[in-house]
Amino acid sequence: MNPVELLKHLISFPSVTPSESGSFKFIKSYLDGFDAIETQKEGVKNLFLYKKFGDGEHICFAGHIDVVPAGGEWRTDPFEATEIDGVIYGRGAADMKGGVAAFLYTLKHTENFKGTLSTLITSDEEGDAIYGTTLMLEKLKELNMLPDFCIVAEPTCEAAFGDTIKVGRRGSINGKIKIIGRGGHAAYPEKAINPIVLASKLLTLIADKELDSGDEFFAPSRLVITDIKSGYGKHNVIPSELEILFNIRNSTATDTKKVDLFLKEAMQKAGIEKFELSMEQSSNSFLLEKDEKSKLYFEKLAECVEAATGYKPKASTAGGTSDARFIAKEGIAVLEFGPRNETIHAPNECVSADEIVKLTEIFSSFVTKCG
Ligand SMILES: [Zn+2]
Repeated sequence: MNPVELLKHLISFPSVTPSESGSFKFIKSYLDGFDAIETQKEGVKNLFLYKKFGDGEHICFAGHIDVVPAGGEWRTDPFEATEIDGVIYGRGAADMKGGVAAFLYTLKHTENFKGTLSTLITSDEEGDAIYGTTLMLEKLKELNMLPDFCIVAEPTCEAAFGDTIKVGRRGSINGKIKIIGRGGHAAYPEKAINPIVLASKLLTLIADKELDSGDEFFAPSRLVITDIKSGYGKHNVIPSELEILFNIRNSTATDTKKVDLFLKEAMQKAGIEKFELSMEQSSNSFLLEKDEKSKLYFEKLAECVEAATGYKPKASTAGGTSDARFIAKEGIAVLEFGPRNETIHAPNECVSADEIVKLTEIFSSFVTKCG
């Protein structure tokens, strides 16, 4: 089975989150020389397969076998891969069974390595991800088997295959500001404290404000107002409260503490005395450590990408979240690289066969470079 045939076979498992749909049994038999560790909780399964060649470093290929539901109108069966003009159509083709096929093929065909090679595959990346990658990492930690370095084969490329390696991700902070005024009759505004007037002052100070100036890897963290609610739909009633919702895609330079301080200062400047402020970091930001070892992994991977595609990949942190955040949290150096992401989560998701062949080439040459 070549990498493209392997991808087609993986697509045939309708592994909508949190189901692995029998694919783990197949993957275990495909990598039959590897030892397995599995976890299962609340319908979520994780599979870790490893092979120790020597005492050197441990490199792990991580990913998810689950996919989002087919959704929408498809020209082909979403769970039966169809190849048209060198392009493979099917749910998960790009996100991320293509990446999984490329690294499974690489692992199966590596004969020499100085350390340990492994793969960590979850069935819950597209869902809540509570018992997914995190749970397996906990188990590996207990067993003292955490890898030294991970590649997550998520679809990272944008305009051309080979253009982007993700070196981190922005986090996401959700927050709520409640301005507490004093309601009253519109005819007697002097007797009321109008929270809408207070909010209008506050908004000029906070809306779309950049909380840091960004750097070579991160865009500035911007405070984005997403909702404002107040009033009762009446012309003659001054409301007593107003609620503002906001979201910040934050870099590693901004955290909830910093946002809290910034908002409290703004509240003071706007003359707001009574308010409630709450926020939650729904996913963490991270950046590949800038130490020499991590830099070396990036350089090696970038060299392999350029050799296979002709593109010098840029280091990016753009886009949504991925399980790489859980891996980084354990102090493991992690990079993400995979196919183009143009059609992910959309009907007629696809990936070119050529990308999968080249991705396999990249992973294989990276493993060779490392060991
Ligand atoms: Zn994905």
